Amino acid sequence: MEAKFYGEEHNIFRKSIKDFVNKEIKPHAEKWDEDRGIPRDLWHKVGAQGYLCPWVDEKYGGAGGGFEYSVIVHEELGRSECPGVSGIGIHNDIIVPYIHHQGNEKQKEKYLPGCVNGDIITAVAMTEPEAGSDLAAIRTKAVRDGDHYVVNGQKTFISNGINCNLAVTAVKTDPKADPPHKGISVLLIEEGTPGFSKGRLLDKTGGHSMDTGELVFEDCLVPVENLLGEEGRGFHYLMYNLQQERLILTIDAQVAAEYVMEKTIDYCKTRTVFGRPVSSHQHNTFKIVEMATDVEIGRTFLNSLIEDFIEGRDITMRVSMAKWWISEMVNRVAYHCTQLHGGYGCMKEYYVARAPGDVRYMTIAAGTTEIMKVIVGNIMGL
Ligand SMILES: Cc1cc2nc3c(=O)[nH]c(=O)nc-3n(C[C@H](O)[C@H](O)[C@H](O)COP(=O)(O)OP(=O)(O)OC[C@H]3O[C@@H](n4cnc5c(N)ncnc54)[C@H](O)[C@@H]3O)c2cc1C
Repeated sequence: MEAKFYGEEHNIFRKSIKDFVNKEIKPHAEKWDEDRGIPRDLWHKVGAQGYLCPWVDEKYGGAGGGFEYSVIVHEELGRSECPGVSGIGIHNDIIVPYIHHQGNEKQKEKYLPGCVNGDIITAVAMTEPEAGSDLAAIRTKAVRDGDHYVVNGQKTFISNGINCNLAVTAVKTDPKADPPHKGISVLLIEEGTPGFSKGRLLDKTGGHSMDTGELVFEDCLVPVENLLGEEGRGFHYLMYNLQQERLILTIDAQVAAEYVMEKTIDYCKTRTVFGRPVSSHQHNTFKIVEMATDVEIGRTFLNSLIEDFIEGRDITMRVSMAKWWISEMVNRVAYHCTQLHGGYGCMKEYYVARAPGDVRYMTIAAGTTEIMKVIVGNIMGL
């Protein structure tokens, strides 16, 4: 489906990042998977090309582009076969927007230029070993002591966790608040802050080049000026930004489904079994057609959401629907596409073989499928 929101300048931008991905990322994807991470200097290369936070205002070093450019960056990085670069997308459109939306002028001047040129890698740290879906139950405490907050607690499953220079961190400033979510605030915690350390780089079932780690705060002294927005408004900020976060993750899931399908159709048309292409056996033809239909439905839904988001319409219910449906859909597609590859679908040298592991997290991160259904059910008054 042709999206209505792109013009000629977007197509030029897309061509440029596509070429960059094919030259600088795709050839290294398998090695970076084995290395369990992408190189630090890739962030600077991506920044130098203008692909880090292209939406940031020019006065902070950005290009001041619209959300369309963010979509293009996600769509092209999503075709790189390198899940590690999803950390770049998360930085661009999930984490840095916190600084842009809720940060004060001093914080924007201090951090945004580094976020755009690659000097600063960001992470958003909400999840804890004992609290994920139920964000209001977080235990990381921040107690005000003069000009500082003293932070104690632990975060887990954090994207860009090990390499981050700045962690946008959800903390409890008022553990007794009733309701509990009113006790949550957000702190900008810099790498090197006394008491802030990185824990383990977590070994996942897929997406091995993604940096997913633990953060530890032990009597960590965070200057009061690093409070984002107002004390006690953290939950509100996190919920506000989560709509974009869910849209972004849905884009990543849709692109992964499209890419895996393309690879599989090519493969099935050229691989012959019993004297004819795999794709021409009726069972396989039907399977491919069913998946292509799912992918088309996903793209149509997604493009209408992107359009609504660009126009400033409220997408809370529809983005929750799309997030669960498209992230489940890409998992189904990845499973069946490996099957269509036969034994090669189990060989890591074939990207499609890596895909089921790489897309698994998509039904979990940014709100699980079940939480998305809880949200939709609530909005529907069920
Ligand atoms: C690769 C990856 C990257 C991530 N990146 C980040 C990150 O950058 N920052 C960050 O803060 N977090 C991150 N997360 C964490 C992610 O957001 C959480 O894992 C997710 O919100 C679920 O929380 P949980 O793991 O604690 O599961 P739980 O909340 O313990 O849920 C367990 C199960 O119960 C279900 N469940 C929960 N509540 C309900 C309910 N009310 N009704 C029905 N079922 C329910 C869930 O759907 C799930 O199936 C990441 C996770 C992964 C896997």
